[in-house]
Amino acid sequence: MTVKLPFLLLHFCFVIASFAQAPDRQQFIRVEAPTVVLSHVRVIDGTGSAPLEDQTVVISGGKIQSVEAGATAKAPAGARVLDLTGYTVLPGLVGMHNHMFFPMGGSPPMYSNMGSSFPRLYLALGVTTIRTTGSVAPYTDLEIKRLIDSGRMIGPKMHVTAPYFEGDGAFTPVMHQLAGPDDARRMVNYWADAGATSFKAYMNITRDELRAVVEEAHKRGLKVTGHLCSIGYREAAELGIDNLEHGLFADSEFVPEKKADRCPAGGAVSTSLRQLDLNSPAARETIRTLVAKNVAITSTLPVFEAGGAPLAQSGIGAASSLLNPRMLNVMSVDARVRYLQARARVSSESNFVALLRKAMEFERLFVQAGGLLVAGPDPTGNGGIVAGFGDLREVELLVEAGFTPSEAIKIASLNGAKLLGEDARIGSIAVGKQADLMVVKGNPAANIGDIEKVEIVFKDGVGYDSEKLIQSVQGLVGIR
Ligand SMILES: [Zn+2]
Repeated sequence: MTVKLPFLLLHFCFVIASFAQAPDRQQFIRVEAPTVVLSHVRVIDGTGSAPLEDQTVVISGGKIQSVEAGATAKAPAGARVLDLTGYTVLPGLVGMHNHMFFPMGGSPPMYSNMGSSFPRLYLALGVTTIRTTGSVAPYTDLEIKRLIDSGRMIGPKMHVTAPYFEGDGAFTPVMHQLAGPDDARRMVNYWADAGATSFKAYMNITRDELRAVVEEAHKRGLKVTGHLCSIGYREAAELGIDNLEHGLFADSEFVPEKKADRCPAGGAVSTSLRQLDLNSPAARETIRTLVAKNVAITSTLPVFEAGGAPLAQSGIGAASSLLNPRMLNVMSVDARVRYLQARARVSSESNFVALLRKAMEFERLFVQAGGLLVAGPDPTGNGGIVAGFGDLREVELLVEAGFTPSEAIKIASLNGAKLLGEDARIGSIAVGKQADLMVVKGNPAANIGDIEKVEIVFKDGVGYDSEKLIQSVQGLVGIR
């Protein structure tokens, strides 16, 4: 029989693969030693404080053993010492809107898992922990997490979010449409049992369904976020949601005469946000409520930047960053053409830039009021946001929004770790924490664009070669 031999071979390969470490792992390792010393390095520690010059960071057992001024520190005998004069070490980023999938075009739009390219790109560009924030292939995400955790795949630490909790009216068939609150409860428990650790409500969910998701998730100590539209931010906060995605962009509560449980049609939400005065009592009340109810906000500025005209006033090369050649090179021809065509259709309409600026200001006001802002790129939209590259662009855009580089890095590292409940272990450079670090050439505190010059990324003390990981997935984004 012609079927039997290929089947046996395939089965044999699966068995081999299931026991091996990532077979090509070694070629991507830049530094691996019982003790590694980063000497003469500038430290931006992820807490928002000013950078420290000429430090010595000692790593062993996967953890940060010490951080001391370079002049007084002594390297332990036998340690592998890296002279990092001219370099900066930052905490690995904690990406909080980091899907494993990418838009594939089509009508209705389709999305496919990028299980080969995205894990490598996230890690290559300094993102050592991600929350997937909505899944279109949940079993794949959960298995990729297992493969990474056991060393059989290279990638970041993963916190897998369940499939989307969407109501009636999904714009893509990759989302399940809930049949009511009982369906929502069933789905929470099913995916929590399978290993999902967070849940994401979507644009057409009803208040009854969201309430059910929050109740079931909280019973299990798990958190709920939302990219909302049918429910306004204050309503969602009252229902107990833990996190809201996309900053100001998804708040429908300022649409005049908005109907309960309905996502306003057309551009009604953005029209209302364009008209919104952030200093008005209504806007202030929204921020006050979110802070009082401990609702975190996720900033996803790159996905909005990619869909609009370049930020004319940007000092950090906004127009060229939209066509970053390193990012275009990891895309398949099809993905690249689709994105460039979408970019060509973007109008120079200044309205959108004004809205993006307002969204940035909202994020600043939220932080000033004491709110927890976290960050992620959201690799969807018009296909111009790619794993890793988007995360670094997000940090640059936070600086564009008015945060200092140290504050922006904290938002993208320690704040995410806090929301995940992992801040005792990751998110900043501190003695006793896991050695999840990125080493960049230059000084992002003086020039945030230097954050793109990633050379080595440490995960649990093992240093990966950024450029080799990127080279290994050239042309793959949009394929797998
Ligand atoms: Zn998203």
